[in-house]
Amino acid sequence: MPRPLEAFIHVDALLHNLQRARDCAPDARVWAVVKANAYGHGLERAFEGLRAADGFALLDIAEAQRLRKLDWRGPILLLEGVFEARDLEWCSRLGLWHVVHCDEQIDWLAQHKTEWPHRVFLKMNTGMNRLGFTPPAFRSAWARLSALPQVDEVSLMTHFSDADGPRGISQQTELFLSTCADLSGERSLCNSAGTLRHAQEASVRGDWVRPGIMLYGSSPDYPEHSAAHWGLQATMTLKSRVIAIQHLKAGDTVGYGSRFVADREMRLGVVACGYADGYPRHAPNGTPLLIDGVRVPLIGRVSMDMVTVDLSAASQARVGSEATLWGHGPLVDGQPTLLPIDDVAQHCGTVGYELMCALSQRVPVTAV
Ligand SMILES: *Cc1c(COP(=O)(O)O)cnc(C)c1O
Repeated sequence: MPRPLEAFIHVDALLHNLQRARDCAPDARVWAVVKANAYGHGLERAFEGLRAADGFALLDIAEAQRLRKLDWRGPILLLEGVFEARDLEWCSRLGLWHVVHCDEQIDWLAQHKTEWPHRVFLKMNTGMNRLGFTPPAFRSAWARLSALPQVDEVSLMTHFSDADGPRGISQQTELFLSTCADLSGERSLCNSAGTLRHAQEASVRGDWVRPGIMLYGSSPDYPEHSAAHWGLQATMTLKSRVIAIQHLKAGDTVGYGSRFVADREMRLGVVACGYADGYPRHAPNGTPLLIDGVRVPLIGRVSMDMVTVDLSAASQARVGSEATLWGHGPLVDGQPTLLPIDDVAQHCGTVGYELMCALSQRVPVTAV
């Protein structure tokens, strides 16, 4: 028997979450952001649930090729554009749209020989200060691009730094909209947080929204709002089993570094999942897991292949009990159980994004 650790991708939940993005941004088109192997879900599996999107946005030409192999004929957008001039040949061959965020990318385009002019998304740096032209440089970049025979249509985009938080988007939005007020081209501003929190406003919604994390059932502004608050469904379940039980006396310690010391007699469960599977090594004591659907705290340091939990709340637990690291647990008294990935992430001082993206190669994944 293989190790009992497995991940499941809930295809219907992807479809549901995509529909949530549509509901939040009526009459905008939706780029399903599938970078990082669809946030760890597997591009091919995610595609099953997200094929109703208007386009797919990602970073790697290799991922774009995989989508074309799945017979996706619609738009694909390279969110960071090309990394060198030669990449433009792949854009021509695969019909990829690409972001243009720096002068070098325009130089490469101007040198590029193609029969098919490219659709590009010109990116404005409105304060994030990663990629894009500053507002004063943006207009000349737009003029230069628009004049190139290699370019078909120029769309306009920016990216929010604070769509999930109290700083909000108003400064960046104003800068973006005023800078491109008299420029033609479709507009794209919103990531998931923008889509959920700010897309009621038509000018913010623009022509295309770019949700990522919300499609994967994680809330971009947790703990202010949970995935359930936003009507999002979990798309990934990571589950395993209890493979051993230890009976501790007061004073006994658990695991490497003896991080946990029992202050009483207790039962401890050993679960087959560790940091080599992508579970965060820095998970502190108290990080939740479900055992047979009952919430219990992690205790002791996470090791490569195992984690240990306090079974005090789960007296029925035995070797073979189901362990949910995140996602859907078993029915308990006929009721579904759930451990939101955001809840686990929060205990570990990170975000759902990082946990799902970190799921490691050795974990078998099944689409259900
Ligand atoms: C990753 C990314 C997104 C999606 O962000 P989420 O927070 O996952 O919704 C949108 N736009 C750009 C440019 C990105 O790089």
